[in-house]
Amino acid sequence: MNAVFQDSPAAAPGLAWNNRFATLGPDFFTELQPTPLPAPYWVGRNHALARELGLDEAWLASQDALQVLTGNRVAEGSQPLASVYSGHQFGQWAGQLGDGRAILLGELQTAAGPQEIQLKGAGLTPYSRMGDGRAVLRSSIREYLCSEAMHGLGIPTTRALALTGSDARVRREEVETAAVVTRVAPSFIRFGHFEHFSYSDQHDQLKTLADFVIGNFYPECRDAGQPYAALLQAVSERTATMVAAWQAVGFCHGVMNTDNMSILGLTIDYGPFQFLDAFDPGHICNHSDTQGRYAYNKQPNIAYWNLFCLGQALLPLMDTQEQALAALESYKTVFPQALEARMRAKLGLPDVQPEDKALIEGIFKLLAADKVDYPIFWRRLGGFEPGAAHEPVRDLFLDRPGFDLWALQYSERLTQVDKGLRADLMLRTNPKYVLRNHLGEQAIRAAKLQDYSGVDTLLKLLQAPFEEHPAHEAFAGFPPDWASSIEISCSS
Ligand code: AMP
Ligand code: MG
Repeated sequence: MNAVFQDSPAAAPGLAWNNRFATLGPDFFTELQPTPLPAPYWVGRNHALARELGLDEAWLASQDALQVLTGNRVAEGSQPLASVYSGHQFGQWAGQLGDGRAILLGELQTAAGPQEIQLKGAGLTPYSRMGDGRAVLRSSIREYLCSEAMHGLGIPTTRALALTGSDARVRREEVETAAVVTRVAPSFIRFGHFEHFSYSDQHDQLKTLADFVIGNFYPECRDAGQPYAALLQAVSERTATMVAAWQAVGFCHGVMNTDNMSILGLTIDYGPFQFLDAFDPGHICNHSDTQGRYAYNKQPNIAYWNLFCLGQALLPLMDTQEQALAALESYKTVFPQALEARMRAKLGLPDVQPEDKALIEGIFKLLAADKVDYPIFWRRLGGFEPGAAHEPVRDLFLDRPGFDLWALQYSERLTQVDKGLRADLMLRTNPKYVLRNHLGEQAIRAAKLQDYSGVDTLLKLLQAPFEEHPAHEAFAGFPPDWASSIEISCSS
């Protein structure tokens, strides 16, 4: 029994480190040891995830866990490695990239199925290029909180089990301190892994990788007439569903390069992300994105562009180009359907009516024109009573006559909807607690002064974002004026 797991009889049998990715062979990765950090300390531990995985709470409280999850000690049975991938960055072929600061410890058999455990910020790898292999506390807190926020919102994502820090200095625009996030996902394989083997004409390895992904994660594709086209279609559909969820909740990823796109349709690589405060369709959250390539309203098309790159990478495994193009077509139907379903739920409409499209378009025009606070609008709309005065919502708009007109149409539509059903649907769909930039920033500022309680409080709120947390009303309010001056770039 490995140290990571419960020694109690409650532990599922056979829990141990395994590493299916490592069976792919040395063309796919380099085995290496994480680089230790001096005097690590806990910044955050995600007990909810630990329970889901069936990890032993006592172990997570131990010095051993602190050392293992900082990369200072390699647990028995773990086989650390960094994988190689390539990718398109900001629309340009960037060539070889790879895990420059992420080290895969291996795969655990957990109560939630096999899960890979990766340390982000655990030191140099052969793929670090100009980087230092480290991640700073600031960006690691953002990743730790946002992965769990996305999970709490029901959006597919990598998870974060723990966050450790060290006073080791890391140079960015200024000198900061180091941190390590323990990331958890069934697989960290990216579109860029496929691009790597395709562009370098390593087509045997490309096939090995595709068969690995199909065998382990998309078994239904194996029996399709063209398994690789079926894989592309399945990935297109998962990506479409994921991006629809992003759009509905107002999430901007910020760096949708193909190396940051998960083959499992998980949100991955949290960098300069942002949840919208005021609704601005053209909002650019990444300060380094001067062209606005990854603006909020561009995300759906960018995801398709990235899938097109994946399709191109998979072409050597297909008989005709048409097979790839046909597989990609599914994105064009699944994305709008998924988005409309999400928006209908946000409006509290459990069934489909022809007038819904106009209702959705109408409210988005008004929200954009007045740059209305996005999360607060939706949460307040849950309390909208047809026919009654609806000041809390109406007051959010400058264009009151415009809103009144829309409210009339909405009231009309609600006559067909059961009140209780609607309330329930809206409360489950429109979060009260969202990881706004300023909330993350406040937790970061406190953490820099060794106060990690803000990280923990936010984690708990964001893991249950649809519930009321009366002691934390302030976290559900409008952003302060200084929030708009927070600048987040790729530097992390
Ligand atoms: P990103 O855009 O953050 O996903 O990073 C793009 C590539 O740069 C990936 O291959 C990362 O592993 C690598 N990278 C980013 N930051 C660092 C760093 N500080 N040290 C080493 N590699 C890094
Ligand atoms: Mg990345």
